Amino acid sequence: MTLLDVRGLSVLLPSASGAAVPVVDEVSFAVHSGSVTGLIGESGSGKTMTAMAVIGLLPEGASCSGELWWAGEDLLAADPARRRRARGREIAMIFQDPLAALNPSQTIGRQVGEILRRDGLPRARVRERVLAALERVGVPDPARRIGQYPHQFSGGLRQRAMIALALAGEPRLLLADEPTTALDVTVQARVLDLLRRLRAETGQAMLFVSHDLRVIAHVADEVVVMYAGRVAERGPVRQVFRAPHHPYTRALVESVPAVRAKSVPAEPLPGAPASPLARPAGCAFHPRCPLARDRCRRERPEVRALAPGRHTACHFAEELAAGARP
Ligand code: SF4
Repeated sequence: MTLLDVRGLSVLLPSASGAAVPVVDEVSFAVHSGSVTGLIGESGSGKTMTAMAVIGLLPEGASCSGELWWAGEDLLAADPARRRRARGREIAMIFQDPLAALNPSQTIGRQVGEILRRDGLPRARVRERVLAALERVGVPDPARRIGQYPHQFSGGLRQRAMIALALAGEPRLLLADEPTTALDVTVQARVLDLLRRLRAETGQAMLFVSHDLRVIAHVADEVVVMYAGRVAERGPVRQVFRAPHHPYTRALVESVPAVRAKSVPAEPLPGAPASPLARPAGCAFHPRCPLARDRCRRERPEVRALAPGRHTACHFAEELAAGARP
């Protein structure tokens, strides 16, 4: 069942010159109940802004258009009070840097319990639920930890507390923005395992933002590959990574030894990502694309279905699907 249906979402941010810059451009995808959709792309691809638009936390001066269908209601058309109510209770977010996201002057217990207090739960019940939430995410000795401040937690424990905070309101959708990027490798693996376990236990739907293909391959069912603010390709993660239909996806996959097929040699992705301030005409990927031709420089490819569940924005996706290489 579709839980979140994002249709033609665009986000404009003000630039230093005053001009509005499109950082997300007509992006469409869905998140289904009990499944994980991964948003992947290089930095500046618009993946974090997409997640921020979903939860309604865009930076000052940003404007947003399109549709965000959630439980039969377009959240983008809803009034601000409705959007605030949805945040935390229905849709919650785990941020990349818990130290920046958590309030340094409030105890962990107070922050995890905030949404429960707002719901009017009695104090003793809030404490009980906060202790259970901290225990569930693997914070040791929660009865002592509940009274501590974020700086008294290690990086890994802070991220666990952030996850407990996000889960406290029992949201139906969890957005996770690079939740393991700020952690060292061992802690990263533990936090990923925790998210997988929680998902198995609760059937929690997730929108998981990452630049790391290995992480997306590990946690996601569906993947949306973004480039220069647009969808390059989307579909079931195994199919997309095993047989990409877009040259950008193929380049991403081939640059990661743990994901690409063993028979395929490593190919680093050439060039730099397109800047939203100077997006190339036609297909934004054309300056880096080994399959680019004249049409690519003139005409922007639309996202289209190439096979059931597989969508691609490339004029020549059929050639790639048939195994063509430059
Ligand atoms: Fe490459 Fe052209 Fe496809 Fe863009 S449309 S990805 S430039 S082949």
